[in-house]
Amino acid sequence: MLSRLAKTLTPYTAGEQPREKTIKLNTNENPYPPSPRVAETLAGFDAAKYRLYPDPDARALCRAIAEYEGVAPENVFVGNGSDEVLSFAFAAFFGGEDKPIAIADVTYSFYKVFASLYGSVCREIPLLGDMRADIKAFAAAAERSCGAVIAQPNAPTSLAESAEDILGIVRAFGGKTVIVDEAYADFSRVPSLARHIAEYPGLLVVKTFSKSRSLAGARCGYAIGGAELINALRTVKDCFNSYPVNAVTAAVAEAAIADDGYFRDCVAKIKATRSRMTDGLRALGFDVPDSDANFVFAAHPRFGGEYLQKELRRRGVVVRRFDAPRVRDRLRITVGTEEDTDSLLSALAEICAAGSGR
Ligand code: PMP
Repeated sequence: MLSRLAKTLTPYTAGEQPREKTIKLNTNENPYPPSPRVAETLAGFDAAKYRLYPDPDARALCRAIAEYEGVAPENVFVGNGSDEVLSFAFAAFFGGEDKPIAIADVTYSFYKVFASLYGSVCREIPLLGDMRADIKAFAAAAERSCGAVIAQPNAPTSLAESAEDILGIVRAFGGKTVIVDEAYADFSRVPSLARHIAEYPGLLVVKTFSKSRSLAGARCGYAIGGAELINALRTVKDCFNSYPVNAVTAAVAEAAIADDGYFRDCVAKIKATRSRMTDGLRALGFDVPDSDANFVFAAHPRFGGEYLQKELRRRGVVVRRFDAPRVRDRLRITVGTEEDTDSLLSALAEICAAGSGR
């Protein structure tokens, strides 16, 4: 019954969405609600409009994003979450290519899934010992690769490279497409690369409303790139689903992007909590690299990752762990509210008081 392709697929495993009440620090959602303008937009939405299909290219939303990013509307593509935008990008730029796609060995695990869905393979470039990207190895792989995908900041490591280093990789790839996944860039000290698209025709920057704008449930992500790349994304989209962004999502995303003050306050609060959380974890003996995202990637010398995750879960705190070489003893912990952070730190203090555990 299944296709040859379907028999080969191993899907991405999304983080758990528990039904019971927990302190949920496992999927990097924003702990604060979206801008009040989102609630107003929902309350004022004319249900009669639902009768009609939405604009297939969500042009009003593209215009709003273009204005925010300082680019032209033809440089913007929107989709049903940035996962969908990435998926279309893998099809448009790497689908069926013989040469592999360069990615880090520890990065967003969906990249390999998209590659396998579109008949391409990945070349994994090992991170350096301190979990930083190996910029030189990426650049050196350009000739033998069809393109590259870099999460900036990287997930789950939480580390950002300098803008110059990432642009150096883009330069090394010449005209080949380099996707820079900026899902967490709003929390980073390193500015977005979106404003560089005019200089680099192969650069595609992908962003999301799910994290910094508290709209994970609405499913909206976008890409910024040269018109040639954006048109290719539209072509793939129109081979898949003419209307990936529904009318309500387009309206709430527009409302969110218009409320810059709320967005900045929210990001500032999360950065302040991130810093307190990092200090608190370090005081308990955790190794926590300075995060550029809305999560930290922490390990404890005396406790295994699986043990810590289970013990936290018993205390109602849900965190994410990846059972992969080099990182299986690290926990990826989302920055929540101040109260979430207190609960996390007191649960960990209790666990750590036990001495050791694997
Ligand atoms: N990129 C990275 C690095 C992520 O961690 C995520 C969230 N899982 C996404 C993209 C996708 O986010 P969304 O589809 O909600 O926009």
